Order: sequence, then C-alpha cells, then structure tokens
Amino acid sequence: MSTGEAGNPELNGASRDVRRILGRALDGHEVGVDDALVLAGVRGRDLAAVGAVADEMRRRQAGDVVTFVVNRNVNFTNVCIKHCTFCAFSRDHREEEGYFLPVEEVVRRAQEAWDLGATEICIQAGLPPKLDGRYYIDLCRAIKRVLPDVHLHAFSPEEILYGSIRSGLPIKEYLTELKDAGLGTLPGTSAEILDQGIRDAIARGRITVEQWLEVITTAHALGIRTTSTIMYGHVETPAHWVHHMALLRGVQKETGGFTEFVPLSLIHSEAPMYAKKLVPDVRPGATGIEVVLMHALARLMLGPTFRNIQASWVKEGPKLCQILLTVGANDLGGTLINESISTSAGAQYGQLVPPGELKRLIRDAGRVPAQRDTVYNIVRLYGDGDDEAAPLDMVDDAEARFGSYRRLVASGAFRFTQR
Ligand code: SF4
Repeated sequence: MSTGEAGNPELNGASRDVRRILGRALDGHEVGVDDALVLAGVRGRDLAAVGAVADEMRRRQAGDVVTFVVNRNVNFTNVCIKHCTFCAFSRDHREEEGYFLPVEEVVRRAQEAWDLGATEICIQAGLPPKLDGRYYIDLCRAIKRVLPDVHLHAFSPEEILYGSIRSGLPIKEYLTELKDAGLGTLPGTSAEILDQGIRDAIARGRITVEQWLEVITTAHALGIRTTSTIMYGHVETPAHWVHHMALLRGVQKETGGFTEFVPLSLIHSEAPMYAKKLVPDVRPGATGIEVVLMHALARLMLGPTFRNIQASWVKEGPKLCQILLTVGANDLGGTLINESISTSAGAQYGQLVPPGELKRLIRDAGRVPAQRDTVYNIVRLYGDGDDEAAPLDMVDDAEARFGSYRRLVASGAFRFTQR
C-alpha cells in the first residue's frame, strides 16, 4: 500500500485498481497513459474518488485562489474557406450573413473594453478568401498603436498557418513579425482532438496534428506562450482524451510554454456535424459526468506541469463551472463581453459574465477570487468584504451596449464583400 492510499480519505470506497492509481498520484508519481486510460472510464464511487484526488492536487498545485481575466472577444469575420463540421459560426463568402469588421471597428471595440477595465483583447476569426497575408500583423500594429499596454491574445494556430501561407513567410518568421507587432500570446485552439483520424472525420482540410504542433512549439521557442485546449463530446472516445493530454504534456515538458489547459465541450445543437448529420454517430455534446471526469483527469495528468486548468462558462454554464472548481479547476476564463462562436452553435449562457458575478460564483464555492492577467499574474486579489464594483458590473444591458453576434449578422452592418 502506498503512503497516499494509507492516509487519504479521498480513496475510500474506490475499487482496488483506482485506489492504487490515485494513491501513486497522491505520492507525487506521474499518471501514465495506461493508468489514465483506466481513470478515463470510471463511474460511481471511483469517479467520486477521482474528483476528490483531483481537488486535493488542485489545492497542492494551485492553492485556493480562483482566477479570471477581464477580456473582450473580437471575432472580426465569420467568413471562412474551411468547412469544419463542428463549426456553426463560419459562412461562405457569398452568404448574406457573412461579415467583416474593419480595422477601425476592431480598434474601437478594443478601446471600449480597455476603458472598462479589460487587460486582454482576444481575437480569433474565420479564414476569409484572399486575405492579405500581412493582415494579422497589421491588425496587431493598429491596436497597439492606440493601446500600447493591452495584451493581445490572438490568432489560432490555424490562422497563423493561413497568415504564413498567404504571406509566403515561414511560420517562424511570421510569428516573429507578429511578436514585433505586439502579439502577446496565442490561443491554443484549433486543436480539437490531436488525432489525425478524428480530424479527418470531423474537419477534413483543417490544420493537421503535425502543423498544429509546429505552430505551437515554434511560438514557445520564440517566447510566445499559448493556451491549450481539447474539444470533446462528439465522436472521440476517452482514449483520445488521454492520448491528447499525453501529447500536450510531452510538449509542456519540452517547452514550458502552455499557460493553461481548457476543456471545451461540443455545443452540438447548431453544429453541422450534428444538426445536418454530416458525421455519423456524433454525440450531442458531453454529458455532465464526462465534463466532470475531463476536468478531473486534466488536473491529474496535466496539473503538475500546467498548473492551470480552466472551466469554461461559455461551454458548461456558470453553475456547472462551480462544480468543476471542486474537481480540479482553478480558473474561470474571461468575461468575454462578446462571444460569437459558441453562441452561433447554440450555447445558452450569454456573452458576458461580469467580474462581480464571477466573484460571487467563486466565493460561493468556498474559494478566493482574483483577477489575473493573460499569463496568470495576479492583478487584484479579492479578500473578504472586497466588493467594490468593477466598471463592467455597471453595464445593465450588455447586448445593447456591446452588440451581439445575432444583431451583427441580422443587421447587414459590416457585410463581407470580396476585396
Ligand atoms: S472552426 Fe475556424 S477554420 Fe473551421 S470553419 Fe469554423 S471558422 Fe473556419
């Protein structure tokens, strides 16, 4: 019997195999792939034990502070040349609902968020046809000219690859130019499941596993940190979760460049793979049990090297996110202000959760709220009784103030025209 097994009530009631694996984790051993495959399939009391040990590891690795970032999403166009079957956001360039925000409108949105206390602008979009290859670089420069201190968290690896191809610059040079133009970090999206078979089934033509890894590791080598993600609840199996996390863990051991891991469950209702039955046997998103297990497993496999496991209120809703704080998560992501990609796929949780509400959710879970910056420096720790309202807390009607995806595509404002 390991010391972890002897002294830890978290293991009570679990089966022998699960007690052995969790006991080793509590003793500080890495959870290997074979053991993780066992944990990825647990239910009942074994699941309770996995959650309890993940919570203990969260306490050891990240403490009781739960962080969030005050940020704004800007999805500057929904026009895209790709046809990922999970994506309800993209439009063909001939469709009436296609829009493209001019640079000055992106800058205006960034300025408005900055004035309301945002520290980060998160930019991701579709891949419009014939985009000027230097567009992403020029966009960074335009924002930083007006807001030199804002953190630009922008462009998925798919967009970096597109910029590189369209400009003719190798990925390393393209990222170097972006960094010089003021890019801070990259979102580690467009990962979905890092398994080429799954990618070919759900998004043929999307950035390959090899290309995704090339963009990420090149960014890390240049000092550009990235997040990391997984999209689950569609056609993958728990074994894919484990291999995906093992791959990310290998990268993190080499580069140390990931700031966090963010599980993103499929929003299925409007996703073409589900709504139009484009892919056989697609699940209608992850179940609650799968969501809990995913976050707990992430803490156990990735916690020692990533530290930060984020629960996404956009995908799971604020209430389930509170539960996820008790099974390994230590971060609630951002305020977002505008959210288009999940909203278009049928997500129900709105486009803004203001800092005051995030603080309330965190305190109600028995933890300590803190605003962080993009790379997890604490901006402000909210002690007991520190309830001063933030500027975003004063906004009554977010849709009227900031616009929304639905209004944008319905209005015809900023309609995409081929340039
Ligand atoms: S996920 Fe991204 S690349 Fe794929 S269709 Fe949607 S916007 Fe385009």
